[in-house]
Amino acid sequence: MDQIVRNRIDWIDAVIFTHSHADHVSGTNDIVMPCRKQQMDMPVYGPEQTMGILQRNFDYMFTKETFQGGGVGHLLPNVVEEKEKLALHGFEILSIPVEHGNVPTYGYRIDNFGYLPDVKRLPQASQDLLNGIEVLVIDALSFNPRHPTHLSVGEAVEISEALKTKETYFTHIMHRLDHRYFPEQCEEVEVELPDNAYLAYDGQVIQLQ
Ligand SMILES: [Zn+2]
Ligand SMILES: [Zn+2]
Repeated sequence: MDQIVRNRIDWIDAVIFTHSHADHVSGTNDIVMPCRKQQMDMPVYGPEQTMGILQRNFDYMFTKETFQGGGVGHLLPNVVEEKEKLALHGFEILSIPVEHGNVPTYGYRIDNFGYLPDVKRLPQASQDLLNGIEVLVIDALSFNPRHPTHLSVGEAVEISEALKTKETYFTHIMHRLDHRYFPEQCEEVEVELPDNAYLAYDGQVIQLQ
């Protein structure tokens, strides 16, 4: 709720989930308010396992039988298959399967924008689906390449260079990555930071053309 208010989001057309980890689904209850304000049921999209977990954890949001007037919004679940193309509100959205521990996880390509917030390994076939993107938002948890489920900054740089992106933003970053000294931090651990790669920050807006 705080995020919706703080970022002055006054309309949500649909919600797209990447996977079922708690840091990505715990805010689901916050969709109640937009459903009520917009007087609509909200379509939600994601991998089959994620849709199942949402329906178990937030069962009251998927049924019309809940107490009317009690502040409960309704969600309309849509399972997205791997490499499925969705046409939503004028955008072409493609689900990109990525390896992230043992949880089925997608990144998404939205026109020329790639979004891969949780990934340890990007299979070649998935990387190929991102060819031609201009802007990439990608997991870069820390400088530690041995983390079992998240990319390091160095690994994320390699992917952005392979994709020849015009701009890359590192997300899902841990507290040790410091916005004030990030280029110096990269130098210290001998990660060559491209000129067009930055740490993302809360509330950042990336405008899609
Ligand atoms: Zn995750
Ligand atoms: Zn996560």
